[in-house]
Amino acid sequence: MIEVNKLNKYFGDNHVLKDIDFHVEESEVVVLIGASGSGKSTMLRCLNFLEMKNSGEIFIKGNEVNPKKDNVNEVRQKVGMVFQHFNLFPHKTVLGNVMEAPTQVKGLSKSQAKKEGKELLEKVGLAEKANDYPSRLSGGQKQRVAIARALAMKPEIMLFDEPTSALDPELVGEVLQTMKDLAKEGMTMVVVTHEMGFAREVADRVVYMHEGKIVETGAPKEIFENPKEERTQAFLSSIL
Ligand code: ADP
Ligand code: MG
Repeated sequence: MIEVNKLNKYFGDNHVLKDIDFHVEESEVVVLIGASGSGKSTMLRCLNFLEMKNSGEIFIKGNEVNPKKDNVNEVRQKVGMVFQHFNLFPHKTVLGNVMEAPTQVKGLSKSQAKKEGKELLEKVGLAEKANDYPSRLSGGQKQRVAIARALAMKPEIMLFDEPTSALDPELVGEVLQTMKDLAKEGMTMVVVTHEMGFAREVADRVVYMHEGKIVETGAPKEIFENPKEERTQAFLSSIL
């Protein structure tokens, strides 16, 4: 679904991603871990073309994407993204938020978008909140709306950037559960998270990044119980 070869990204003279090779298979859940500033968000943003790479190749479903030539908006429809801060439209209802992109970007009819939107809210357990405004929701509920909103574009890949980091601890579980359900349905996912329980349970592979490089990658059991690299060991003992 995703293949990245020798990806490099700079912000000014800050070399943030260094010769990254990375791939994600269909229906695979890859959890990306690493210290703050190691380049995890930049990596996700490059995969979604919110940031433009400086060099290297990015293939989505076998096609190389060249932001200068290709229609990045079309690619973005295949790749949904959920952020730490949900950024819901405050003046729209929950259902209105979920209907926005399909009607505005894809030109779906209102009635169809409404039907699909309601199904998605059902799926994330928020059907009864359809007509409420985001300000009435808890952080966990807002994040589940943000997930439904991303799914409304029928993406084939979902990227999550610390989706539970801004939540009160008691609200983390409901969002992780929604993500687990999605994984079970076979969604291809790349997840940046500090929730190691989620990584152990749901990830097919864990990728550890350090200072813009992928240092180690493996099954969760290997990475957590038997990390090969000293830097991975040091990172894990600092957070576990
Ligand atoms: P992580 O998500 O792992 O914490 P980031 O990808 O956010 O790391 O950041 C990696 C590096 O890139 C950091 O040094 C950060 O300061 C820098 N950086 C990230 N975004 C920008 C930006 N928009 N402009 C300039 N520097 C940035
Ligand atoms: Mg980040």
